Amino acid sequence: MITDKRTLVVGNWKMHLTVHQASLLVHRLNQNIQLHRSVEVVLAPSMLSLQPTSQEIDRRKFGLAAQDAYYEDEGGYTGEVSFAMISGIVDYVIVGHSARRIYFGETLETVKHKVKAAVRNGIVPIICVGETKEERRAKQTKQVLHDQVTTAVMDLTSRDIEQVVIAYEPIWAISAYDGEAARPEDVEKAVKYIRFQIEELYGRKAAERIRVIYGGSVDDHSAKAFLRVDGVDGVLPGAASLNYRQFTGIVEAAYQVQTEIRAKDDKK
Ligand code: PEP
Repeated sequence: MITDKRTLVVGNWKMHLTVHQASLLVHRLNQNIQLHRSVEVVLAPSMLSLQPTSQEIDRRKFGLAAQDAYYEDEGGYTGEVSFAMISGIVDYVIVGHSARRIYFGETLETVKHKVKAAVRNGIVPIICVGETKEERRAKQTKQVLHDQVTTAVMDLTSRDIEQVVIAYEPIWAISAYDGEAARPEDVEKAVKYIRFQIEELYGRKAAERIRVIYGGSVDDHSAKAFLRVDGVDGVLPGAASLNYRQFTGIVEAAYQVQTEIRAKDDKK
């Protein structure tokens, strides 16, 4: 990990919380989360809660992300909200989350257009990639990551690429609190492979600078193990981000791991 990078913690609230409930959670988070310069904390509420949340969050402590947006800037796309419409409100947008790919038929092409639209509108895309259980069993993880990563970033310049965040989210490990969890060694291998793809396309500097984070059943107990994995620059918790105690615990874990890594680097 390059230690001048801030650790990124992104809470994906998915399709949970009314505007009122979101506001209560923000109130708790404002009260409980400490400001750490080495940790960047981002909240991803529903589209409906984005605007009120943007006015309620302590901006020194929190950034804001949308969970999705549409790639055309405007037009007759009933029901959609564009990247252009949310630029100025959000810093990040989650793109290609497995829920979008599975339930809403998003293809590699769709994700590519969304990544491009995010960058065009000055928003950092958090590109989610990861294999299904079947693909893992069939030992296709590398092929899947290759296809997802290379298509998603295809239209980006070498300047754009360093801004992008890639989230490794193995689908079999999402919401798997009672099931099979990813092991740090699985995550390390996948993250290394993702950086290798970026290096092949954009060179070593870009591969080192791009932020790669992990998501899949991360909570306040497991966060440190994932954050200590070489090459992991942050975490993307879903369910645990809806609980202010757990989310606060994850942010504190990120701060402690950053402090450990910085102390080690200083001794070198
Ligand atoms: C997610 O939805 O991106 C996610 C990682 O969810 P969870 O942490 O609940 O597995």
